Amino acid sequence: MNAPVEHAIAKQHLIDPEICIRCNTCEEICPVDAITHDNLNYVVKFDVCNGCLACVPPCPTGAIDSWRNVERATPYSLEEQFQWDVLPDTTELDNVEAPFAVERADDELPAEVQEITSIATAGQGGPALAPWSASHPYLNLYPPTRPITATVTGNYRLTADDASSDIHHIVLDFGATPFPVLEGQSIGIIPPGTDEKGKPQLLRMYSVASPRDGERPHYNNLSLTVKRVTEDHEGRPTRGVASNYVCDLQKGDKVQVTGPYGSTYLMPNHPGSSIMMICTGTGSAPMRAMTERRRRRLERNEGGELVLFFGARSPDELPYFGPLQKLPKDFIDINFAFSRVPGEPKRYVQDVIRERADKVLQMLQDENCYIYICGLKGMETGVLEAFRDICRANGADWDQLRPELLANARFHVETY
Ligand SMILES: Cc1cc2nc3c(=O)[nH]c(=O)nc-3n(C[C@H](O)[C@H](O)[C@H](O)COP(=O)(O)OP(=O)(O)OC[C@H]3O[C@@H](n4cnc5c(N)ncnc54)[C@H](O)[C@@H]3O)c2cc1C
Ligand code: SF4
Ligand code: SF4
Repeated sequence: MNAPVEHAIAKQHLIDPEICIRCNTCEEICPVDAITHDNLNYVVKFDVCNGCLACVPPCPTGAIDSWRNVERATPYSLEEQFQWDVLPDTTELDNVEAPFAVERADDELPAEVQEITSIATAGQGGPALAPWSASHPYLNLYPPTRPITATVTGNYRLTADDASSDIHHIVLDFGATPFPVLEGQSIGIIPPGTDEKGKPQLLRMYSVASPRDGERPHYNNLSLTVKRVTEDHEGRPTRGVASNYVCDLQKGDKVQVTGPYGSTYLMPNHPGSSIMMICTGTGSAPMRAMTERRRRRLERNEGGELVLFFGARSPDELPYFGPLQKLPKDFIDINFAFSRVPGEPKRYVQDVIRERADKVLQMLQDENCYIYICGLKGMETGVLEAFRDICRANGADWDQLRPELLANARFHVETY
């Protein structure tokens, strides 16, 4: 049987020769070398372009934003495109939804990123989906073989000088090169130098802490929340390669960045959607991004609740403690848990979740509420136990609820 006609049709990316000013911007930016030129025209390779759209915003004329649906087997060849004075007319094929000739898929991600991500999301208990109203994420625009160079425009210590953890707020600027990210996505940073085997350092992943329109609105920049690793997970003294490199960066330094990564840990965008955020330490990065996204859109009155459970040793160790406290109470319901405040009983994030059992149960059962957990590996165990207890005490079954949450893209875990 013949395949449905849509499958035989693909979207072909073209450049309008009438308005292109031959500035070369698109060819410089394309992360997969899909654009080339002769002395007459700039053209796009059908079998290489994956529709990532990185070239579209920087094109000064809009010539790059030209598309035609074609029979997949007979696209416009480079030779044809080189000879055009004008774009070919649209045809009836353009009336159908067609995929790009080259699919962008998660399995294109570098193996190390796939491996790190599968470990980081293991606590979910199954594969997650993106919320139905999440925006389309761009993935792996800049692979480790072709990283983008960012400039450090800020590096501020977030924790008190005498706090045991040294956490920094880092701002990276991408200049004129597009680096589109969504809240919840991560980027890779390649530390300079080589490892003990003499091989180039592997990338380390860091969650983006700013919303999609930039750390500073409408700037092509983003922020990270990075903890200097001075001891390993067992408490033995060590010097983490990437985290120390990042925390020591100075304004003006150049950094090799890969990504973006993450196709499911994304926030819902539909009005009325609520978000429950549970984090410790630098796990606050994606929560800051989502909260700031919602805060910047407050005047739209889109509704939906934000509830945050945030654990740290003490207020001094809690990134963004000051700014968080300034947020209006009717905008976000913040629940802190401090485990090392002198003279006070230890409270962990799961203890505060239990204290708010009614609210947590209501949100777990609200099909418009999406749940995000982020922080140090192991934190999810206590949180999931708290969910289980809350369900049990109220006649619900966590083991039944969790697969439902996953199937509806409502449960997202990232721990490292
Ligand atoms: C999806 C994802 C998002 C992440 N987001 C952030 C983020 O927003 N902020 C952030 O600071 N980190 C984040 N990380 C962790 C980050 O990628 C690095 O693992 C971390 O900075 C340590 O790298 P390093 O090169 O300094 O240490 P390495 O040189 O790689 O390791 C040194 C030693 O420390 C241990 N170690 C590694 N990480 C930690 C840790 N976090 N705590 C204690 N010991 C550790 C290692 O096992 C090793 O023994 C994220 C990780 C993932 C997978
Ligand atoms: S960026 Fe736009 S104007 Fe410049 S060469 Fe590419 S298509 Fe032409
Ligand atoms: S859409 Fe992406 S892959 Fe295609 S030409 Fe533009 S930058 Fe290159």
